[in-house]
Amino acid sequence: MSALRTHSVHDLVDLVLPVLLLAAGALHPEAPGLWYVCFGAAWAALLVFIVGGAAVAHRLALRAETRIQGPRTKPAPIAREAFETARAMFVAASFAAWPLTQWQLGHDTGMVTDLASRGLDPLTMTLATLGGVIGMDAWLYWKHRLLHTRLFFGFHKGHHAFRDPTPFAGFAVGPVESVLTFWPILLLCIPAAVHWTPLYFGLVTGFVILNFYLHCGVTMAWVERLLPRALFNTSAFHNLHHAKANTHFGEAMTVWDHLCGTTDVPLRRSSGVVARRS
Ligand SMILES: [Zn+2]
Ligand SMILES: [Zn+2]
Repeated sequence: MSALRTHSVHDLVDLVLPVLLLAAGALHPEAPGLWYVCFGAAWAALLVFIVGGAAVAHRLALRAETRIQGPRTKPAPIAREAFETARAMFVAASFAAWPLTQWQLGHDTGMVTDLASRGLDPLTMTLATLGGVIGMDAWLYWKHRLLHTRLFFGFHKGHHAFRDPTPFAGFAVGPVESVLTFWPILLLCIPAAVHWTPLYFGLVTGFVILNFYLHCGVTMAWVERLLPRALFNTSAFHNLHHAKANTHFGEAMTVWDHLCGTTDVPLRRSSGVVARRS
């Protein structure tokens, strides 16, 4: 298959997928109308949270004088970054609509505020969530590696159109990549898959803020020192992925990059060990 045809297939799938995800709401067995209300509310909330948050992060980044790739020679494609982020949030909302509808109908979901009602305690829940975070980080790394293969890169190439990104590009990924990233939202439909409300939204907020920082194009010295010590991704680390594309695939942490040798920065230096000793 020619490169042109391969890319056409990718573009076609990315075009049709959001339509199918939206149409799927009509198949809701109890309340398709309510599903569409929940979808609209979820998309609106995500747009305010993610695009609004990116605008704040971008304004803060403009004040910094530590631009990783030097002064811009042309304006950042903010409108395109924001459009692709809004499309990714459309996919995320189409997943969130299912547990939201279930909740609105009065059925149990996997989102639990009162742990005692399910016979759980905060310590057990925190340890279980930590396992989930480690598993999710592994998934994000290997998903990203998969998307850099010849067969799948067409679904990821849009994110690499932003070689010198702004926070608006933090979630600017295509529909197929959005499905691969946001599918865990559907786990909330399973009452036995308990997610503790404060911990869940705390972690989601932390991941969103981290993602803004990874794409802000500037560095903050204390953050660049602190995060690598816990093997978390940083702006300098992820910016290199946008500039070079063939290293630094970690999306939340850098553990798998270090384990698989896909980092340009040695573990001792990236974790601050060398810097601390020198
Ligand atoms: Zn990126
Ligand atoms: Zn990539």
